[in-house]
Amino acid sequence: MYDLHSHSTASDGSLTPTELVRLAHSKGVTNLALTDHDLIDGCSEAGIEAKKLGLNFINGAEISVSWSSQTIHIVGLNLDIQTPELLSGLQRLCEFRDWRAEEIARRLSKKRIEGAYEGAKVFAKGRIMGRTHFARFLLENGYAKDLKQVFKRFLVQGKPGYVPGQWASLEEALGWIQAAGGQAVIAHPARYRLSATRRRQLVGEFRELGGLALEVVSGSHSRDEILHMGQIANQFELHASAGSDYHGPENPYLDMGRLSPLPEVCKPIWEHASWPKPASDQGQTDSENSSLDPCPSALTL
Ligand code: AMP
Ligand code: MN
Ligand code: MN
Ligand code: MN
Repeated sequence: MYDLHSHSTASDGSLTPTELVRLAHSKGVTNLALTDHDLIDGCSEAGIEAKKLGLNFINGAEISVSWSSQTIHIVGLNLDIQTPELLSGLQRLCEFRDWRAEEIARRLSKKRIEGAYEGAKVFAKGRIMGRTHFARFLLENGYAKDLKQVFKRFLVQGKPGYVPGQWASLEEALGWIQAAGGQAVIAHPARYRLSATRRRQLVGEFRELGGLALEVVSGSHSRDEILHMGQIANQFELHASAGSDYHGPENPYLDMGRLSPLPEVCKPIWEHASWPKPASDQGQTDSENSSLDPCPSALTL
């Protein structure tokens, strides 16, 4: 079972990388990608725990992109997390996040909400601060009844705590992912407020730049959205990915290990030629090709 989109305390998830991997394993996930926002800090820890449990772990990141005055998320998978180009790109986004966190707090204080920076910081266990941490602070202080309402009242475009993003360009994000030897996926493509025409334009540009897949199955997609995104992926000859976008037990996203299967018409990203073969498959291939094998399977068929 593949889950190729999840978050830990390194960004805005509420489980540590180790806890996340243990949960995934207990829910029957066999291939897990950690895709924290704009950083790869949690991947080493998650990889160590996954190895202990025999779970196949994939280094990933969910990169924030500004495209046509919208924020779009691009998931990078199978990243070489030592790649200087990737690390310096993500560093730039983290620096913008540092400034943005202060700016969110300044804007909230104009609405007489004081102490938001320090308050949000308490919830941020990793290097970055995101809107989720501000949402938790606002929720704790009774500014709304749930996370959804907090975002709607304070943290989305046109609301007091919203600061427009200055993220990577689509070209930069794909360049960093490719430099790191990874595959690029448009995260939760049905979630953006784009007209059908603009969405097709986005998918077309993404493909031109070497993007590989759409996240057809997402914890935030309905059944209809899954089918619709599957059709778009096929029309553009893109592969399909699947990820829960898990943020922790208290978030209103789908649970781990409960994703719908990809629509039959879709080509899974893990069947693309560039997807690394698990170590066990490679072992088998070696022995099949070995001249010591007394009975090659090709002869018995
Ligand atoms: P940021 O990257 O800091 O701008 O924050 C984006 C994150 O906020 C997303 O990855 C979600 O985790 C969270 N988020 C955005 N909108 C909502 C919402 N309506 N309800 C709950 N969480 C949300
Ligand atoms: Mn998030
Ligand atoms: Mn996202
Ligand atoms: Mn996500």
